[in-house]
Amino acid sequence: MSSEVRVRFAPSPTGYLHVGGARTALFNWLYARHHGGKFILRIEDTDKARNTQEAVQVILDGLRWLGLDWDEGPEAGGEHGPYFQSEREDIYLRHFLQLKDAGHLYEDQGAWRFRSQRAVVTVDDAVCGSINFDLSNPETHPDMTIRRPDGSWIFHFVNVVDDIEMRITHVIRGEDHLSNTPKHLELFKALGHTPPRYAHIPLILNKDGSKMSKRDAGASITGYIDGGYAPEAVRNYLSLLGWSPKENREILEISETVQLFDLAGINRKNAHFDLDKCLWLNAQHIGKMPVARLKELSQPFLRQAGIVSSQPDELDKVLLLVREKLKLLSDVPDWISHFFTEAYPFAPEAVAKVFGNATAPERLLALANSLEALNPWSAEAIEHALKETAASFGAKHTELLLPTRVAVSGRASGPNLFPMLEILGRAGTVSRIRHALELHAARP
Ligand code: GLU
Repeated sequence: MSSEVRVRFAPSPTGYLHVGGARTALFNWLYARHHGGKFILRIEDTDKARNTQEAVQVILDGLRWLGLDWDEGPEAGGEHGPYFQSEREDIYLRHFLQLKDAGHLYEDQGAWRFRSQRAVVTVDDAVCGSINFDLSNPETHPDMTIRRPDGSWIFHFVNVVDDIEMRITHVIRGEDHLSNTPKHLELFKALGHTPPRYAHIPLILNKDGSKMSKRDAGASITGYIDGGYAPEAVRNYLSLLGWSPKENREILEISETVQLFDLAGINRKNAHFDLDKCLWLNAQHIGKMPVARLKELSQPFLRQAGIVSSQPDELDKVLLLVREKLKLLSDVPDWISHFFTEAYPFAPEAVAKVFGNATAPERLLALANSLEALNPWSAEAIEHALKETAASFGAKHTELLLPTRVAVSGRASGPNLFPMLEILGRAGTVSRIRHALELHAARP
């Protein structure tokens, strides 16, 4: 018998990928990758009314976005398919007959029920420890239905049959399934199979301890995709929901997480969801990300904002300049749009602040003249020239920073000024200052 680790993520397509589901998928994926095993995706779509192709697509897209590739499953294929429960009818029927022939089932008003052994069932869980479930009282633990009168199957039965047929070695799933596990163990026993190793992972609650619902901010993975989160940051955040690497580490690359991840590091107590922390991690990941990656991830937001760069390395330079200031990828256009158009808008308050001061125009004009002759064109040289210009008016150089910034960008805040001017270039900077003077300097 092979000792290869085989784990699965078994979502029911409900129309969205919940953070809890994504975290379960991630833990399974990490476990598989850590142990060099297989990660299987199985779609538990027995509820025909709710299952649509779009609902499945949302799950596949979400997993792909998170970088959680599956070795077997929809679109990947594999030896143990089909990977949609809706296509496994004959397999369920075979196991149903096996149980029926062995006398484990009885009919009750058209439904088929499993006759419980009425014993104490011990769940030996890798996270929760050893827990006894006393199933001896039929009042509190009625025999479970496995097939409805309309012929459809109940979750417990198909879930167990699939775990058997797909040779699942470890079931890592939410703690909400812990109470189902004794039933599952009864089915494994009746079907003559050794159960997998179970690991029930803590629930994800809101900060205030309430249960997370579909409508809570951060509940759906689509929200992160559209909202400007980097997949590596969300993955990092999800990995910390119920698992901790040693030494209080928080910012982790996925390769390290794969290396460090194991069931022993999973916490028993509930995890508390904190979108601010996820946002903080997002800024941390973006701030250190290779520019090529930042460019790739920013693309949808740049496209949406209509930002096009004519020189290919210009965008790289600009992104490098603002990288550490970004919280979200959706912030990118706002930080950089003025680089790519001469028609950048001027913020009225910024204009009032600068041009409300009568000294601004002559100083800016002098700066433009000085920069026009500046050689070489570098951030340091620009800084030096600006200081000299300020000094020639007996002014502090800091008095010239805001006017210059507003003149070239239209706004009072933004990337570091001197590197920004370096990127805008000599001609660009000078023409911007002159243009701002034409627009805003008070005419006599
Ligand atoms: N379809 C079940 C769910 O989405 C899977 C439970 C399991 O992982 O065994 O909760």
